[in-house]
Amino acid sequence: MNVLELKGIKKTYYLEKLDVPVLYGIDLTIEQGEFVAIMGHSGSGKSTLLNILGLLDKPSEGSYKLAGIEISKYSDDELAALRNRYLGFVFQQFNLLPKLTVLENVALPSMYSGSKDLEHHEDPAKLLEMVGLSDRIAHRPSEISGGQQQRVAIARALINKPLVIFADEPTGNLDTKSTKEIIKILKDLNTSGITIVMVTHETELTAYATRTIKVQDGLILSDERNKSENIGVLKHHSRQFKRKPFSLARIKDHCAQAFGSLTGNKMRSTLSILGVMIGVASLIAMLAVGTGARKSVEAQVSGLGSNLLMVSPGSSQKQGISYGTGARMRIQEEDIYDLQSNVSGIEGIVGYVTGRGQVVAKGNNYNTRVEGVSPGFAEMRGSYPSVGRFFTKEEDASRARIAILGETVVKEIFGGKNFNPVGEYIKINRIDFQIIGVLPPKGSKGWRDEDDKIIIPLNTAMYRFAGSKELHYLDVKVANTADMDEVGEDIKTRLLFTHRLPSFERDAVRVINMAEIQAAMEAMGKAFSLLLGSIAFISLLVGGIGIMNIMFVSVSERTKEIGLRKAVGANNTDILFQFIIESVFVCCVGGLIGIVFGSGISFIISKFAEWDTIITSFSIILAFGFSVFIGLVFGIWPARKASLLNPIDALRHD
Ligand code: ADP
Ligand code: MG
Repeated sequence: MNVLELKGIKKTYYLEKLDVPVLYGIDLTIEQGEFVAIMGHSGSGKSTLLNILGLLDKPSEGSYKLAGIEISKYSDDELAALRNRYLGFVFQQFNLLPKLTVLENVALPSMYSGSKDLEHHEDPAKLLEMVGLSDRIAHRPSEISGGQQQRVAIARALINKPLVIFADEPTGNLDTKSTKEIIKILKDLNTSGITIVMVTHETELTAYATRTIKVQDGLILSDERNKSENIGVLKHHSRQFKRKPFSLARIKDHCAQAFGSLTGNKMRSTLSILGVMIGVASLIAMLAVGTGARKSVEAQVSGLGSNLLMVSPGSSQKQGISYGTGARMRIQEEDIYDLQSNVSGIEGIVGYVTGRGQVVAKGNNYNTRVEGVSPGFAEMRGSYPSVGRFFTKEEDASRARIAILGETVVKEIFGGKNFNPVGEYIKINRIDFQIIGVLPPKGSKGWRDEDDKIIIPLNTAMYRFAGSKELHYLDVKVANTADMDEVGEDIKTRLLFTHRLPSFERDAVRVINMAEIQAAMEAMGKAFSLLLGSIAFISLLVGGIGIMNIMFVSVSERTKEIGLRKAVGANNTDILFQFIIESVFVCCVGGLIGIVFGSGISFIISKFAEWDTIITSFSIILAFGFSVFIGLVFGIWPARKASLLNPIDALRHD
């Protein structure tokens, strides 16, 4: 039976600037059981011919039948399957994968054959025993001699019970002793029925062959059969097992391969993981800071009250001309009652007289903000004391010397935060006050500590501190948020009227809509977290591009490995999968470590910068999902590049 049948095979390499014709039309038929030695000068086209015979390269022209099958119409994947099932390769450079053990190297082709059935494979351990390397099973290729490496390569070529073994100068890198051993093994294999095609330049070796072909300038110069020898007969050669395109076992194999090459190259893996980790960690931390900042702005803002108008005296002077009395408007306590009964849409009004006060108690001295407020304050601002009570209308009217302290003040004066100061006496600006309550904490962060103040009755503040009946400002709570502008205008009109100011002098009163301030601050908070988010996004992108670079380096560093895997039967999908799994794996690990690391960073920020950081499940999912996405996107390109490599080009790469 004809195993190989070539007719008019031509090969031209098309380079950028010139065409290099190498084979000019080869006709050749090789029968099963032959041991063919191909000889010729360097550059005569021997390797080119052998690569075409071995389906590693495609002819430019001509017909090629392998075991009776015309292969010129076959796709890359079909060729890979044919190589895997029918052919074995032995290269001058051995081409063992350095990170795999001897045993794993031998078993490699079986991984791509889609069947673990021993019927279709040899046992790798038995093959190693056959080539005399049972005691080297767990070694790496670098730990054994060249002759031994070539024996491993032969064992690998035999794993799928090949029909033909192609050997390109298999002894070219070996000493005489190893050369003898190798050629003997090949001879024995040939005797057992395997067809062997070997390129060599050593004339002695042709003695082992049954046929010697001389090639010169891309043509067959001579073709001689040695004195007739018994040709062995191969028992097994028809194998029709189908390879499933997708199976769990295969994915498992790919994962194992990916994991192996990651652990085999710790430096590169660590760098890639580091890249993703930094990106994810910064994303997590930035999002945490951004969310924290936004939440604290929101808390601050909601403390302002969204339906509040702040009414304060404006300037009645305009362009140097004064109106009315010529003085600024003096808002007084009577105005509160007047507005409440004459302007509709008002839910409540609180008047304020504020200033700073020097507080002394227990030998401690502390300066804080003192607010005189009308009795409605507690209800309208939701500030009923957490400990003790608020003051009554009667106490306000009688100018009682009682005070409600914010938590910060309690801490500063009495020490411990949980100290209950109710009933204690303090001096505020040398006047004795009794403490009747502690304000609920507002938990304020940012510009002003809302817990750093003392509340006293409005009348106490007016008569005992300020010595004036003038209020500093009013908080007006509007019943319906939609009416805020209208109510504000009505308040102005009413105040001008009661204070006998001309109605065009509207600047004498200032009305600030807190809802507008709130909206402005919220917008600021959003802009801030958007800014942080985009910085983090850029850093993740940089990390991703880093990964892509490392993957590209990895692909080109491992081009030879890819070539070998393809030579022994890996198809494009196999290679694509292997690299994508690697890159996704790197990104997952980097992502997970990054999440932990980022959480740590945000914890440290909140600890030392006293800035609230909030890690949401959204930011974790986003960061992790994004790192996997990056692994896919930035892995696919290099992986695709790897998968599309032509096996022989990849193998030649160094
Ligand atoms: P040898 O008989 O020494 O094995 P080869 O088959 O390797 O010779 O090469 C034959 C000729 O083809 C040489 O001149 C070589 O330069 C050229 N050649 C081989 N491979 C390529 C390639 N990939 N691109 C261009 N020229 C090539
Ligand atoms: Mg060669």
